[in-house]
Amino acid sequence: MASAPFAGPLAAEVAEDVLERFLRYVRIDTQAAYRVARRPSTEKQLDLSRLLIEELRALGLADARLTESAAVFASLAGVEGAPAVGLIAHVDTTPDVTGAGVSPIVHRAWDGTPIELPGDPRQVLDPAHLPELAARVGHDLITSDGTTLLGADDKAGIAEIMAAVAYLVTHPERPRAPVRIAFTVDEEVGRGAEGFDLAAFGADVAYTLDGSGAGEVEIETFSAKSIRVTVRGLSVHPGTAKGKLVNAVKLAAELVGSLPKDRLSPETTEGREGYIHPHRISGNAEEAVVDLIVRDHDDEQLEGHVALVQSLVERVARSEPRAYLEVEVRDSYRNMRPYIERNPRVVEAALEAIRRAGLEPRLAITRGGTDGAVLSAQGLPTPNLFTGGQEYHSVREWASLQDMAAAAATIVELVGVWAEPAP
Ligand SMILES: [Zn+2]
Repeated sequence: MASAPFAGPLAAEVAEDVLERFLRYVRIDTQAAYRVARRPSTEKQLDLSRLLIEELRALGLADARLTESAAVFASLAGVEGAPAVGLIAHVDTTPDVTGAGVSPIVHRAWDGTPIELPGDPRQVLDPAHLPELAARVGHDLITSDGTTLLGADDKAGIAEIMAAVAYLVTHPERPRAPVRIAFTVDEEVGRGAEGFDLAAFGADVAYTLDGSGAGEVEIETFSAKSIRVTVRGLSVHPGTAKGKLVNAVKLAAELVGSLPKDRLSPETTEGREGYIHPHRISGNAEEAVVDLIVRDHDDEQLEGHVALVQSLVERVARSEPRAYLEVEVRDSYRNMRPYIERNPRVVEAALEAIRRAGLEPRLAITRGGTDGAVLSAQGLPTPNLFTGGQEYHSVREWASLQDMAAAAATIVELVGVWAEPAP
């Protein structure tokens, strides 16, 4: 069977470069860590950042450099007077699934049968349960071996930006807007845009390449907060614990057990429905910590979810007055939609670029956040474009080369659209 066709001639032309870069970048372990004060949260993220600086310089982007906030910045000149277009992706991968020793597998012209990942027989990509996969028979698919994540989130975005830049550099005859590139660290721990120097970046509009399904433009994110509940009990030797032991493990479990299950949970909601998601629990009888994220598209509803967590904590505290429970709430990011709607051309240009790349564009919402949500709130409108990766944050993560190539072609078309006078 021959592989499925590419979205258009440009996608076909850049495809092998996208693939080669992607396979190179995913082998570099860039896993971020939660709750680490230093930046980046793990030094190894910079292994990829430094490689990208070298590769950008080799492409002629002489100003490629690491900024004080550990982002890679680089620029490419374009048509004078045209708005400068920012292209952003993140080098780190989620702390939730290991990214060490990734060994990517390319399944050329996938025949539509379930894909067994050889490193772990329990991990099977079954098109009967994955409609996005079922729609891609004939595509060249990339997976991990089932023991690690793949890292398409967000190395697909990085490979696509790099391949698009390589194409632009070798095709100077194509009119293009000035380009500003940023590869951030620690996006997966909600700190991707921390310290991001908007003035030094110098973009008028920007796009994160951090989405998923082919043709999608995301202009709406969740608003998000993170909550840490610390439970302090009193540990005593169990042999002499009667009337003395206050077990923090049991109290933390009681709190988690009291959270809503059939609603307000990521596993039971979709679309614009918000959730409270306990994602980490740690500790011992003396002290236990429960980390939660709370998300909603509506800011008022978000406050309601935070209040619910606080009331459940209070109930546990009342049940055991000798325990001490502490709640710490942090802002993560806000829904970017209102900021993006102020500049409709940002979305229109993306939709037009996707059409020119040969795909049907569509607007989508993301049930997560992006660096772009933070940057949009700071005045740089930054919607999120598709990358072609799927099943993120999982050992079953996969990506379609046809979709990744279409994303790279979209980037090339996008900086072309911005080089044209405003319609
Ligand atoms: Zn991402």
